[in-house]
Amino acid sequence: METNLRIDITVEDICKGFVYNEYEGKGLFGLSGKLTIQPEYQRNYIYADGKKDVAVVDSLLKGYPLGLIYFTKVAEDKYEVLDGQQRITSFGRFVTGKFAIKDANGIPHYFSGLAEDQKEKIMKSKLTIYECEGTETEIKEWFKTINIAGVPLNDQELSNAIHSGPFVTLAKEEFSNSQNANVQKWSAYIAGSPLRQEFLKTALDWVSKGNIDAYMSRHRYDTNITELKSYFNSVIDWISSVFDDVDSSMRGLDWGRLYEKYHRNAYNPQEVSKKVQALLSDYYVNDKKGIYEYILGGCVDHKLLNIRVFNEPTKKSVYTKQTAEAKLKGHSNCPLCALGSDNNKTRIWKQTEMDADHVTAWSNGGATDVSNCQMLCKTHNRAKGNR
Ligand SMILES: [Zn+2]
Repeated sequence: METNLRIDITVEDICKGFVYNEYEGKGLFGLSGKLTIQPEYQRNYIYADGKKDVAVVDSLLKGYPLGLIYFTKVAEDKYEVLDGQQRITSFGRFVTGKFAIKDANGIPHYFSGLAEDQKEKIMKSKLTIYECEGTETEIKEWFKTINIAGVPLNDQELSNAIHSGPFVTLAKEEFSNSQNANVQKWSAYIAGSPLRQEFLKTALDWVSKGNIDAYMSRHRYDTNITELKSYFNSVIDWISSVFDDVDSSMRGLDWGRLYEKYHRNAYNPQEVSKKVQALLSDYYVNDKKGIYEYILGGCVDHKLLNIRVFNEPTKKSVYTKQTAEAKLKGHSNCPLCALGSDNNKTRIWKQTEMDADHVTAWSNGGATDVSNCQMLCKTHNRAKGNR
């Protein structure tokens, strides 16, 4: 790969013919049409948060360098941004009046309202740019290894770069577009942000059963995303048909796996809803995220709910009382050992040799407090737990 260092290109040069697409959230072109700011392997613009974008403009006003920018030369006088897209889009959007910066008194200023010398300072700022020329493979390999200034690429962004092509382009239009009207509905079940590719990652994870890269590689040159989309929609429709309510604890669950395991079963949404509400408000249920699989599986696997355990003071006080009574009566302080006929019938266990047990199980309405606690020797506690 060949590289050529350029220090003559200014912000003004880049902003000539700058086009930013608000709808898709990306900067498209600059440098009088010679520069493509977002080639298909780039990620969406994520600096528009009123901090990172403002920081870029501040740096220019203070004369600080913006750091290295990399272009790839794709043809004579045609370039793509390899690294620097977020910074370029930030100053491009500022110069074209898309956002304002605040002065020391908190008053917002758009580019057009800045003093002439400040405008000049921004526009005449020179950038440090490496122009690189190489094969697609070389460039992508390299893209994988450079650390994008500020925010490193996450796994899915890297996969998009490595498997770039028509499939990724279509998939991003559907799943990485925060303007998509479905995003709000999907957000009930999927954690993260479409712009950081977390929705796309989820969709791919579900359809590929966890083998995202293999799936992307196989479909790289597909000109449709029919399977990806229909599988994703099947999962979403299934969730919303089984669970009437939406709760924050549903977000980010492994719905693809749950769908595969349970979607052939029939559920009554009204009954499901009652159970969900009861468990969500149950103080003893520690793991609210476990509620959904617990219900889907027929309410038998209590481990999924991580039921609250007895605290140390409770155990200590029950142990003390139980042991004192057992010594008076001359039998074991484990009530189940006391019923037996072997050597343990009169054995006094240390507290460390015992575990706390719910006299009435949580699933039968038993509380997790002193009134429902008994200490059993570890062997008996385990045996009871397995029933
Ligand atoms: Zn025992």
